[in-house]
Amino acid sequence: MLVLLFVVNGIASLITLNNNRKVSEHISKITDPSLQSLEDFGDLLTASKMYTTNWVFLRSNQDDKDALKRLHNIDYPKLKVKLNLLSGKWDHKQMADSLQKIYTGFEQLLVVEKGVMSSLQKFEDYNDPVAKFESERIIEDEVLPHTSRLMNSLSGIISYEQNIRNQKNKDLEEYSMRLRMLISILAITIIFLGTFLSLYMARVIVSPINKIRDMVNDLGKGIIRKVNHKVSNDEIGKMVRSVNNLSEKLQATATFATEIGNRNFNSYFEPLSAEDTLGKALIAMRNNIKSSYQKLNEAQHIAKLGSWERDVKNDHVSLSDELFCIFDIDPVSFDSSFQSILQLIHPEDIKNFQAIGRKYMQDHLPATYECRIISAKGVTKNISVQSKVVIDAHGEVIKTIGIVQDITERKKGELALSESQKQIQTIFNAALDAIVIIDEEGKIVKWDSKAEILFGWKQEEQLGMLLTETIIPQQYREAHRRGMKLFLKTGEGPILSKTIEVRAINKNNDEFDISLSISPSLIDGKHQFIGFIRDITSRKKAEAKLRKSEADLERNNRELIQKNRDLEQFAFAASHDLQEPLRTISDFVGLLRQQYQGKLDEKADKCLAFIIQSSDRMKIFIRDLLQYSRIGSDNTNEQVNCMVILDEVLADLGKAIEETNADIKADPLPFISGHPAEIKQLFQNLIVNAIKFRKKDSIPKIKISAQKKDNYWQFTFADNGIGIEEQYNEKIFVIFQRLHTRSEYQGSGIGLSNCKKIVELHNGKIWVDSKPGEGSTFQFTIQQNSN
Ligand code: ADP
Repeated sequence: MLVLLFVVNGIASLITLNNNRKVSEHISKITDPSLQSLEDFGDLLTASKMYTTNWVFLRSNQDDKDALKRLHNIDYPKLKVKLNLLSGKWDHKQMADSLQKIYTGFEQLLVVEKGVMSSLQKFEDYNDPVAKFESERIIEDEVLPHTSRLMNSLSGIISYEQNIRNQKNKDLEEYSMRLRMLISILAITIIFLGTFLSLYMARVIVSPINKIRDMVNDLGKGIIRKVNHKVSNDEIGKMVRSVNNLSEKLQATATFATEIGNRNFNSYFEPLSAEDTLGKALIAMRNNIKSSYQKLNEAQHIAKLGSWERDVKNDHVSLSDELFCIFDIDPVSFDSSFQSILQLIHPEDIKNFQAIGRKYMQDHLPATYECRIISAKGVTKNISVQSKVVIDAHGEVIKTIGIVQDITERKKGELALSESQKQIQTIFNAALDAIVIIDEEGKIVKWDSKAEILFGWKQEEQLGMLLTETIIPQQYREAHRRGMKLFLKTGEGPILSKTIEVRAINKNNDEFDISLSISPSLIDGKHQFIGFIRDITSRKKAEAKLRKSEADLERNNRELIQKNRDLEQFAFAASHDLQEPLRTISDFVGLLRQQYQGKLDEKADKCLAFIIQSSDRMKIFIRDLLQYSRIGSDNTNEQVNCMVILDEVLADLGKAIEETNADIKADPLPFISGHPAEIKQLFQNLIVNAIKFRKKDSIPKIKISAQKKDNYWQFTFADNGIGIEEQYNEKIFVIFQRLHTRSEYQGSGIGLSNCKKIVELHNGKIWVDSKPGEGSTFQFTIQQNSN
């Protein structure tokens, strides 16, 4: 706007000045010279009149006559030329025409004057009265009036030119006036515009610049924020945008730096540009810190060493990764309070822990101590703590920092070591063995008090002696020397402990038996061997005695087995032989009873019935006994399909099952290797018992199953019968043991002992779980590869 104003003003001024210049030029070059010339012309007219008059009346005035001649010949033509030049530039041609007329008139006058001059040319011409009077008349009648007319006309032109000059001067004034006005307006406009622009600038430029300045100042203080200013499209707007952009980028860089500070090394950051040295330096720093941090973590992990930093004022604790591991704290849920750490200290150690804490907070000296923690997962651990305080300029504690090492394993080791040392000491003290240490050459380096007692030699006598040469009798020495040489060759493969039993001699040359156990050991970096020597004379004697009694026992055993076999043979033969007469008795008595039915008195009939019953019982008994003695007599071993065996048993027991409505359920049963007949007998006995010992009012329910264990099958026969008292759980497997002797529970007391014998022959076990009134569960195992 200002430039426009200046331009307009300049143009206006130039135009005005140009006009003024033109007007002035016109005045100075045309108007004024014209006026001057016109006035000169007027003077010339007057002079012409005067000189002509003087020509006539003043005969001797030669000067005027010369002046008139000069006027006629020089002055007038010269003036006319000049005036013609000027009048040619006049704006009004009318005036030029008027001037031409005046020329004409004047030139006519000059002709008249010339007539006068020629008539009165010489001095004597004046003496001619006619010429004189004629000349006087011409002056009177022609020159004077004619000159007067010409003067009038010329005056009109002069006043006209003067008017023009006045007009031009007025114009000049007016232009100057306008120029002043224009300059004043420009000055006022500049003042107003300047004021307005100042205010506008203050608002539009200064305010955002102030904001930018504040923001930049804040940046200097590390505060990153944006300039809150409406972003326009002008330079200021661009500047605000650029500064905000800078702030944004710095914020991104600062955020990245913060993330690095928070150990979030995976946060994404791109350098702001190829020249972003700060960003690149941060990335390089992040990578370096990350790798160092990883290495530190690895090192801490290997050393089970964690570190912490506690901001005392803000109660903020930060832990290293390994310390989180040691405390078993989840880093995500950790609230960073010191209280949370305190809660982990073992209740028995907390007082001491707090006392140490108070002390080093007071005296500002580093502290090293050990305590126990109960980790967040409830694991008790031993830790070693080293801590120190960081104080500010006023001597106030602002931070505590330190390291924590998990020394649980070391503690355990120490404990175990001290335990084992104690134990070793106890063993040494309690040991009956004499302890001797020899070097690689077999020379004695230690000879303990028990060795002194055992052999009679004192340690001083034995040190440096070869063990073999002193305690081994002469006749065995050579062989022993060779054996010892071989054993003591160290560095050739692992050396294992060795125990030998040899004959030894004591200081008195008495021979006796010893056991010598030699173990290699590294003592003070040297290979040495510890020998434990025990007098085994009495053991040897006992062994000899034992060997003798073992031989006796074996012989007795053989005799017993033979007797047992004879007994079984006898039982088999007896029961076999008894079967026939028993059947005869039973058949005959039955026949007798039938024949004398109704003829016998009641008592005799009862007696006969009793005989039949007893002989039936006897039959069962003999059958069972036979079975018992047969078990194991046949070594058959084949694949037995237990499912088929069960089907056979159920078919055989069909009548009993039908009568009792027994509900028998079986899971799929396996193939086992064994004796088919014996397995069948085993199944049968258990099912018969389950039906026989059922509860009075309920249907017997039997559940049979088999379960595969490591290398055997475990069978289960569960019933809902009357059950067995716990005290009889073992007894019932003993032959002839019966718990229920009521008539409905007829039996021989052999069934379960049969089962036991069969199971044991198949390398298994049998047992029962039962409660009276709640049924019994018989279980037995059968080895898979039983034979
Ligand atoms: P018995 O010929 O009497 O059946 P066993 O040797 O088979 O002889 O059984 C010994 C005793 O064990 C039986 O007399 C009985 O008291 C008890 N017994 C065996 N099996 C069962 C069972 N399933 N329920 C309750 N008692 C049983």
